[in-house]
Amino acid sequence: MAPVNRKIIEVKLRQGTHQTTEISPFLFNEYLGGYGIGVRLLMEKMNPAADALGPENILGFAPGYLTGTGFIGADRYMVFGKSPSTGGWGDANSGGYFGRRMKETGVDVILLSEISNTPVYLYLDESSVQLLDAASLWGMDCYETDDELKRIHGKDCEVACIGPAGENLSMIAGISTDKGRMAARSGLGAVMGSKRVKAIVVKGKKKTTVASPELFREKRQKMAKGLKNNPFAQGLSGRGTAMFYETCVNVGDAPIKNWAGTKADIKAPEAITEEVMETYRSKKYNCSSCVIGCGGHEKVESGPYKTATSVHKAEYESMALTGSNLLNDSAASLIKINDLCNRYGMDTIGCGGLCGYAIESFEKGFITGEHTAGLELTWGDTESIITLVEQIGRGEALGATLMKGFDHAISTFGEETADFAIAVRNEALPAHDPRWSAGLALTYYTDATPARHTQGSTTFPVGGYQQPEMTNDNLSGRAKYHIDNVNLTHALSCLGLCTFCLSIVDYRDVVETLRLADGNDWSEESFNKTGSRISVMRHLFNLKAGIHFKSFKFPERVLGNPPLAEGPTSNVKIDLDLLVNEYLDEVGYDHETLQPSELLLEELNISQFS
Ligand code: SF4
Repeated sequence: MAPVNRKIIEVKLRQGTHQTTEISPFLFNEYLGGYGIGVRLLMEKMNPAADALGPENILGFAPGYLTGTGFIGADRYMVFGKSPSTGGWGDANSGGYFGRRMKETGVDVILLSEISNTPVYLYLDESSVQLLDAASLWGMDCYETDDELKRIHGKDCEVACIGPAGENLSMIAGISTDKGRMAARSGLGAVMGSKRVKAIVVKGKKKTTVASPELFREKRQKMAKGLKNNPFAQGLSGRGTAMFYETCVNVGDAPIKNWAGTKADIKAPEAITEEVMETYRSKKYNCSSCVIGCGGHEKVESGPYKTATSVHKAEYESMALTGSNLLNDSAASLIKINDLCNRYGMDTIGCGGLCGYAIESFEKGFITGEHTAGLELTWGDTESIITLVEQIGRGEALGATLMKGFDHAISTFGEETADFAIAVRNEALPAHDPRWSAGLALTYYTDATPARHTQGSTTFPVGGYQQPEMTNDNLSGRAKYHIDNVNLTHALSCLGLCTFCLSIVDYRDVVETLRLADGNDWSEESFNKTGSRISVMRHLFNLKAGIHFKSFKFPERVLGNPPLAEGPTSNVKIDLDLLVNEYLDEVGYDHETLQPSELLLEELNISQFS
């Protein structure tokens, strides 16, 4: 007995039809849930070279393999498909309650193909699948859509939807759940918009069963107790990710002034601290089965950045990309900007990165008042930053260009602006700086979904993994540890674990729990190999799409070219070629074509996909 129903719903949107099929248990054993099973299915069912916004692209939704079992923090659902932003494999994920509710419908994977003639939403419960008219929802923001669908289908349903950004095919469009949680990266909200699917509504109560319920419960409780006593988990529980902000600014990890500045550029560092953010906290929040509860709601009661209601709090990534990155010292505005992004259905990392690019391009004369409808863009000018975020969300004025991503903006405003685009393959860098920890550069560059700090690295190793201390002074000799962390992170993510849980709980305990969940003879080695299979399959999708990372540039500024003159990361330079060459040797990819070796493909049992 495994924690999945092995049921897949394939919806053909143009025809308005669907069919239910069963997936072989073998595939779940080899790929787990989420984007693991997703990449295996899409490699079989679509041409990776297809237009990401065309009918051939398939957009999939799948909860983690352990989602619904109550296993600590395994609440993620994952969305996947070809990314219109990178032109390669795309996936994104979110916690909250949607993943569990989807599992409770008895369905493990939803696949949407073709393009609907009119706006629709998909309704799914334990006994029905319906495509329903969404004409009246089209144009609504994510909160309005969520409210309206819960009014129609009841408060016990969960909604994943797009806002205006997804409808406008913005490259930073995400998919919203829980009115403020965003599967944000890879631009998959635009894929949903291109298919004219406004939302997916799930409603069900089917229990997820496991192979050894008593032993599973005991193990889960023991791990939950350990998690509650863990100091990092306790910090997250009390303060959330806002607790990282000051430290990351101080050590040179957070982006400052579009990654070209240092703390000395921040006029009022005391204006944004976890204590200040705490004054806005209105409610604590946790994902469905989490014992940490790092989330919360915030409310700005008065002033220019007043929020209409209590809203999901701004997380560290959002705070840094729209705070220090833009020299924005207004704590209340971070909540407002986060709220705007959540309403429009946008990635806050992408939005903050594009704002940094725009301000620097304006400062240096490549973008002018003609492009901005008269808006003066200046570092730290909160008013103009908020207006710019609204322009991007609505696709108006300068936002009409920026929402199409960095590559489009560079082709519009000139190749000279490429230096200000701190992005890999069109995706903005998250708020962790390789000059602070070089391992991140390798992850940002080589993962199939670039520029993500959550895809496994020696900087953020998985819980329980032993590796030597690594500093930027010696970059050599880290490839094996990098690959292990990538593999384990992919496998843990496809179980449904969030980044924090997978970095705190010991992965060997998770493997033991997995044995109790599905009755299979998992070992640390087979678990690592499963993560490797998922990682290499995503890479193969990119090769078949006609891209590989060596044909893309990494932003030189973040490698220390030119180096920062002051601050904790002054004069740091990262030799990315050295990191990449050692990685390619260790992982078994050809240095020119990046084709995996036959031996690796055979070991992973995926030779048929090369
Ligand atoms: S740690 Fe935070 S993000 Fe992770 S499952 Fe718990 S509440 Fe959700």
